[in-house]
Amino acid sequence: MIEDTITAIATPIGTGGIGIIRLSGSNSLAIADKMFNSWNEVKVHEIPSFNLRLGYVIDPGDGEVFDEVLLSVMRAPKSFTGEDVVEINCHGGPIVMEKILRLTLELGARMAEAGEFTKRAFLNGRIDLAQAEAVIDVIEAKTDLALGVAVNQLHGNISERIGYLQKRLVSVLAQMEASIDFPEDVGEIDCSETRRILLNIKETIHSMIAEGQRGKILREGLTTVIIGKPNVGKSSLLNALVKENRAIVTEFPGTTRDAIEEVINLDGLPLRIVDTAGIRETGDVVEKIGVDRAKKLLAEADLVLFVVDAATMLTEDDKLIARELNKDNTIVLLNKHDLKNIEMTERFINETLPEFQSLKISAKEKWGLDKLPILIRDKVFGNNIVAKDRNIVTRSRHLSALNKAVNYLNEAINGLENGNMVDLLTIDIRGAWDSLGEITGETIAEDVLNTIFKEFCIGK
Ligand code: GDP
Ligand code: ZN
Repeated sequence: MIEDTITAIATPIGTGGIGIIRLSGSNSLAIADKMFNSWNEVKVHEIPSFNLRLGYVIDPGDGEVFDEVLLSVMRAPKSFTGEDVVEINCHGGPIVMEKILRLTLELGARMAEAGEFTKRAFLNGRIDLAQAEAVIDVIEAKTDLALGVAVNQLHGNISERIGYLQKRLVSVLAQMEASIDFPEDVGEIDCSETRRILLNIKETIHSMIAEGQRGKILREGLTTVIIGKPNVGKSSLLNALVKENRAIVTEFPGTTRDAIEEVINLDGLPLRIVDTAGIRETGDVVEKIGVDRAKKLLAEADLVLFVVDAATMLTEDDKLIARELNKDNTIVLLNKHDLKNIEMTERFINETLPEFQSLKISAKEKWGLDKLPILIRDKVFGNNIVAKDRNIVTRSRHLSALNKAVNYLNEAINGLENGNMVDLLTIDIRGAWDSLGEITGETIAEDVLNTIFKEFCIGK
């Protein structure tokens, strides 16, 4: 049981209509009682759960009135954290929020760490770890699609799938252990049936991993590089894309982001266009950041947009860049389609980059760009449609846990085929079970847990 009561401003710092100071812990109601004068003179501990009362926040020391507020109470265990929670809805000015926060500290609360409310919800068993992570994802979702997936995870849909797989592993394990402990009654395990079950579980995990590659993109965005020699229209393209599709990007203290990137929402797909500052300032990534860095960017990119000036003949510089590209993640944009000569360039591209997909556009006239999302979806997701209601994995942490589980299952399956001792097999199956448990947080090391909650902002 966690003893102390934590406090934080739960709304963004800055000026707004309403600001919320949130308290959680066994002393929340007592602390709130000392600083709240309700209009109808009820005490905080008399307010029913999920009810609001209007009143004043008053400094009990000198009687100074800080603000007129609405105060709500949510009692343990039916609150977000599973503890007694009080929320003070005050006016959203930075001074008033700060004064009320400080009063809660003076009255015995402790400043919450980043993500500590959600961490308590996890530690108190209100939500599992995958759900806690989904809280961040809901807050940070960059597109509708990403939000839909995150809300599903918050609801516990991933956890349910994991739980089901774990249950099947437990029943295999139980049979194995019974065959060890009571060989006369149970007899030996049915190797081919056990193998079939394990293979089937492995297949399910495999498909979750495959979906997860796409899920990760939904959550994190496609790392996109726009490349091309100077004056082909990279900035114009970027500006055209950004103007129509700029994503609402929220910045959180504690989250480190590449400073120079622009996030756009292209028909539900978040694109993180890196090093845009480089493109904007000099018109040329290669010139600005050097060839090696450009190669590194290309190597790390999920998506490369290679822009050529289709109105002029291609030059050595174009060919130099083309040599570094990979058809699996590159789309060639034949820009300046509003001018002449495009057929020549098109033919040239078809000859030099035969298997590359290309699109005729005019960044200046904003023409042809509407076909870009379809091409990108096709490139990235193949024919798979990403539907909102799919319970896909979106986090690298979950993906690596799934991969670990697959490795253990492979060991177990090999062991079965080689006729290994059953008690050796149980070790691998337990390993697979544990790996799955890392996702929901059943089996997770303290330090990993702390890293996860550091991603949150204060007050969440
Ligand atoms: P960057 O150096 O690759 O970033 O190229 P810019 O975007 O700065 O464009 C270079 C020049 O090409 C500018 O004068 C643009 O107005 C022009 N330009 C860019 N896109 C188009 C286009 O689609 N059609 C025409 N006609 N001109 C364009
Ligand atoms: Zn430019």
